[in-house]
Amino acid sequence: MNLESAIKFHSPKSPQFTDSPRATASEALTGADVMAAMGMAQNRAEMGYSAFLGKMGISKQESDRAINLLTKYALETCDRVAALRKLESDIKPAVVQVLATYAYLDYCRSAASVKPCDWCSGVGFIEAEIFTIKSPLAGGVRRNIREVVRVRCKPCDGRGIVSAACNDCSGRGKALDRKKTKAQGVPVMGDCKRCSGRGYERIPSTDAHRAVCEVTDLLSLDTWKKSVKPFYDSLIGKLEVEEAWANSALRKVTA
Ligand SMILES: [Zn+2]
Ligand SMILES: [Zn+2]
Repeated sequence: MNLESAIKFHSPKSPQFTDSPRATASEALTGADVMAAMGMAQNRAEMGYSAFLGKMGISKQESDRAINLLTKYALETCDRVAALRKLESDIKPAVVQVLATYAYLDYCRSAASVKPCDWCSGVGFIEAEIFTIKSPLAGGVRRNIREVVRVRCKPCDGRGIVSAACNDCSGRGKALDRKKTKAQGVPVMGDCKRCSGRGYERIPSTDAHRAVCEVTDLLSLDTWKKSVKPFYDSLIGKLEVEEAWANSALRKVTA
């Protein structure tokens, strides 16, 4: 059994949370079996386990735990980046926590998630200038009247959020490879170039940098790009590795 099938047992609505016999071996596990197996997997791969449950929206507690564990890991490893090593001991934990939080948010991104609309900064409305020509009732001069009005933002239809799915491949991760299609004369699909096959747009790492700047002004954009961003990316990778760990731990205890 893997993590994906195990989370069904977390949902109270799930009909699988019963002791009734099932067709396949993994579904024949009872709820109690699964809980015990997940408990063991959690002990062996705590971060990946919490990260995954948090990502699937099982509980906010799991997300918080994953962020805490990642922050701890990041604090233990950040000194290999000179710019982070040099931070004062009262600032460093705050910066590292921001990095861990954004890394976790990025890890949670999927084609099904939403992001704030860029056009209206998540407000749902934009201010637009309109000009109306007012003709005076009796005599005088015609005037252009400039007014600023709030109009509903079109890209997000006033909701302030838009889908995080990639625009080029609509979240599928695959797109027509024009070069190969032309060369071979038949449609050839390849990984979407815009999203590198992920199917969704990642959180811009500059967002994480901006949040770091709220804590300290010691990490310039240049420093960020050169040394801190690779570390930040490694934290996202860490979560993916830990999730894979949790998955294999669960497989082992349910095999
Ligand atoms: Zn909008
Ligand atoms: Zn794409």
